[in-house]
Amino acid sequence: NEGKALHRERRVVEVKGLDGKARRFGGGNGKHIFVCGPDSPQTLEQTLATARMAREVGEKFGILDRVMLRGGAFKPRTRPTDWRGLGMKGIAIMDAAREETGLPYVTEVMDHNLVEQIGAHADMLQIGTRNAQNFDLLESVGRFGKPVILKRGFGNEAEEWFYSAEYIANQGNLDIVLCERGMKTLYTKGGYCRNQPDLNACTHARKQTILPIIFDPSHVAGDHRIVAENLMAACGHLVDGSITETVHTEAWRREQLCDAGQALVMDQYSILVEAVLEYENHV
Ligand code: PEP
Repeated sequence: NEGKALHRERRVVEVKGLDGKARRFGGGNGKHIFVCGPDSPQTLEQTLATARMAREVGEKFGILDRVMLRGGAFKPRTRPTDWRGLGMKGIAIMDAAREETGLPYVTEVMDHNLVEQIGAHADMLQIGTRNAQNFDLLESVGRFGKPVILKRGFGNEAEEWFYSAEYIANQGNLDIVLCERGMKTLYTKGGYCRNQPDLNACTHARKQTILPIIFDPSHVAGDHRIVAENLMAACGHLVDGSITETVHTEAWRREQLCDAGQALVMDQYSILVEAVLEYENHV
């Protein structure tokens, strides 16, 4: 009910870093939160290099309190023979990146039996698109209580996505950040993008729920050459932040075992961050 929603206070979801700073998603403050990092941590050296550069970007623009890391150690793969991440070894690498940079991190959890084990390490949990309607998992994450990014299922209607958020909220956890990451449609088969972004769903979510909403331009694009324009389009829909796959160099982009083509290198990311901040200053 839009009328009621307009009078409800918007939820602010806070994620604190070891650096003592809180990343604050939402609340209508117009401040974009930048979540970046590898699709998946592969080696300590590469992940630390990316994390350091994320920190440098934050320092360069004076927005360190708006930067956090991503990295999926448990990877949901469409094909079972594809690389599926380092599991708890990958979580240890993300821990090391946080330790060195002070930046908090978000990581995906796919199994309700692993929520406590992964959640004991991560600052924020991610429910991926494939598990957006895994109700046991949603409830476990709800009971666990740490902040969560809830991706929209790639075939879910907006309302179904909000019901998934209710599964988490009904267990007492309102620290939910909604994430639009694109849909599979007839058109994505043509190959010009990986998923079709539903930008109007971002605006709809803002009107229908009190939750912050972020955008994942990487999974929408599937190609680093069209990540920036997708994120800028989402900024026009006033999203509260973004989660963008980034690695530190071209060489590591080529070495990525999962979704290599969609990762930005840090120089590209830095230009994009500047553009988002510039846009933010003019809204
Ligand atoms: C991810 O962010 O690593 C991921 C797998 O995303 P999605 O669930 O949106 O495909």
